[in-house]
Amino acid sequence: MEALIPVINKLQDVFNTVGADIIHLPQIVVVGTQSSGKSSVLESLVGRDLLPRGTGIVTRRPLILQLVHIDTEDRRKTFEENGNAKPGVSDEPIHLKVFSPHVVNLTLVDLPGLTKVPVGDQPNDIELQIRDLILKYISNPNSIILAVTAANTDMATSEALKVARDVDPEGRRTLAVVTKLDLMDAGTDAMDVLMGRVIPVRLGLIGVVNRSQLDINNKKLVADAIRDEYAFLQKKYPSLANRNGTKYLAKTLNRLLMHHIRDCLPELKTRINVLAAQYQSMLSGYGEPVDDKSSTLLQLITKFAAEYCHTIEGTAKYIETTELLCGVCVCVCVCVCVCVCVCVCVCVCVCVCVCVCVCVCVCVCVVCPQGPRPALFVPEVSFELLVKRQVKRLEEPSLRCVELVHEEMQRIIQHCSNYSTQELLRFPKLHDAIVEVVTSLLRKRLPVTNEMVHNLVAIELAYINTKHPDFADACGLMNNNIEHAKNGYLSLSLSLSNVSPSHTPSHVSLCPCLSPPLQGTAGGPQAGAEQVDGGTGGWRGMLKKEDGMPGDKNAFPSSPMRGNAVNLLDVPVPVARKLSAREQRDCEVIERLIKSYFLIVRKNIQDSVPKAVMHFLVNHVKDCLQSELVGQLYKSGLLDDLLTESEDMAQRRFEAADMLKALQKASQVIAEIRETHMW
Ligand code: GDP
Ligand code: MG
Repeated sequence: MEALIPVINKLQDVFNTVGADIIHLPQIVVVGTQSSGKSSVLESLVGRDLLPRGTGIVTRRPLILQLVHIDTEDRRKTFEENGNAKPGVSDEPIHLKVFSPHVVNLTLVDLPGLTKVPVGDQPNDIELQIRDLILKYISNPNSIILAVTAANTDMATSEALKVARDVDPEGRRTLAVVTKLDLMDAGTDAMDVLMGRVIPVRLGLIGVVNRSQLDINNKKLVADAIRDEYAFLQKKYPSLANRNGTKYLAKTLNRLLMHHIRDCLPELKTRINVLAAQYQSMLSGYGEPVDDKSSTLLQLITKFAAEYCHTIEGTAKYIETTELLCGVCVCVCVCVCVCVCVCVCVCVCVCVCVCVCVCVCVCVCVVCPQGPRPALFVPEVSFELLVKRQVKRLEEPSLRCVELVHEEMQRIIQHCSNYSTQELLRFPKLHDAIVEVVTSLLRKRLPVTNEMVHNLVAIELAYINTKHPDFADACGLMNNNIEHAKNGYLSLSLSLSNVSPSHTPSHVSLCPCLSPPLQGTAGGPQAGAEQVDGGTGGWRGMLKKEDGMPGDKNAFPSSPMRGNAVNLLDVPVPVARKLSAREQRDCEVIERLIKSYFLIVRKNIQDSVPKAVMHFLVNHVKDCLQSELVGQLYKSGLLDDLLTESEDMAQRRFEAADMLKALQKASQVIAEIRETHMW
């Protein structure tokens, strides 16, 4: 069974080499008031004079004492450090190892004693300082608490048991030690205490007799003291002699420790393995020391480029779930912005502008009777003017999309260079150079992409395609509704397409100022309902009639090809006047048509902008990244400079490697313990 303790001692050794307080190893911690005999108990267990002992505060730092059982020939003792000149206490432990054939394998921690009043040069908060220090060690659930109380004090007021109970209320890891059995008042004995009748202690109470100050002064050997102790117990407590004394204490401790270790081992094993895995991945993140610089550079560039592309595609390993893909950003953005535009702008503009535009439309028709577009409804130009205004509004959010994607791609550079490609952190210059190259590649693509997006909107503005099938459907539907609603009062021909110019249906001007002369009537309600003869062909038919109108020659010059025939500003605009019912209906119609057309364009833009951004920005950068990086950075003249490792990183790698080695050794030590060997 004792085979287990060397394992723990070995583990402790392994971790001491890397200076890590990384695993809570099972160990025995001595607590008690000052001069209760803590150091003496430990010394008796060790069988040697090694600890600072005496009156007052002598032990000022935790002392981790490792007792290692060795064969007689292999005797040696190391004593690393002893004592501390500072008046306060320090929590920096002293490690002390004793190799001896006369000890059982134990790890013990000697602590300064609990004290109440500062004496001499001690700081005022000495009591608190020491209590904190003690708590730090005994709170460790992997520790066994040796609560030391002198027999010549009242057991019921034992500070040691009190503090132990604070951290171990069930007493699962507290063992009471009663010292100074030889110093009890004449006529008293520790029978009741040792039997556990005063304060029961779950794991038991063990009485001991250590060397007195006089014994120490006389250089009495520990071995002699133990012999005398045995004699004392036989004489004074014959019935309890076998269950008390230093030897029995050592055996008990050994047993407790082993049980404790047995309980801790599985978790310890897991922790070490987890830590080893963590350090392993940390170390691989730091990369190996560079042998072949050019291949390392190429590898890093390639890895970065791949990570960057994977992140953009959303297939990167470490990408956070909150991150959106660039393509997704584009779509979302267009939707939101455009909805606002439609609601706010269309309504407002249509109402205000209609009067102006209704007049304008005729002029355009005069100027360009053979225009590229088949005839629309009469206020065509007003419609076009208004619709263009709305379409134009799509440009800004579309350009903003490009900007957002650009920003996102910029952010991904940081993400990849700092997290995904951790090796890059080793080489700050290469890191910066890569960031610079990608940033400038992105910057170069920005105007090209913006230009394309601008053009997409410009294309939509260039020609208002009233023959678009979706628009024609919308108009047809609206026409029917209106005709039904007006019950023949006003006939608006909204048939826009599916007719060749020669078969354009008749149109009636919605422009109030044109209707009467066009019809040659007084402009009553029926006037607008009249339709121009379809055979003469829509606009052209209408215009022919107008051309022939008497008295209109001033308003419409004879040559329709003179583009500047009418200055729009000269057209009288009845803005101040309240709209007639008919004009209002006209406005409604135009508004609906604008909406309908706008939705078509918006759909186009929603579709084409993300595609353009993907093609001109995202995909282009993705495709060129590797070659751009290689072209700019993979140069023999730059190798040394770019691959200069930061000192910090070299040190970190060294430390991680050390730690990993220690952990692997620890893991190996644990793995060596076979279940059969253990119990
Ligand atoms: P610590 O402050 O708790 O570490 O106490 P020490 O081990 O330094 O002991 C304080 C003093 O009590 C020393 O002079 C020891 O020799 C003495 N002492 C400790 N244990 C016993 C004991 O069992 N019997 C006698 N007579 N003296 C003891
Ligand atoms: Mg001491």
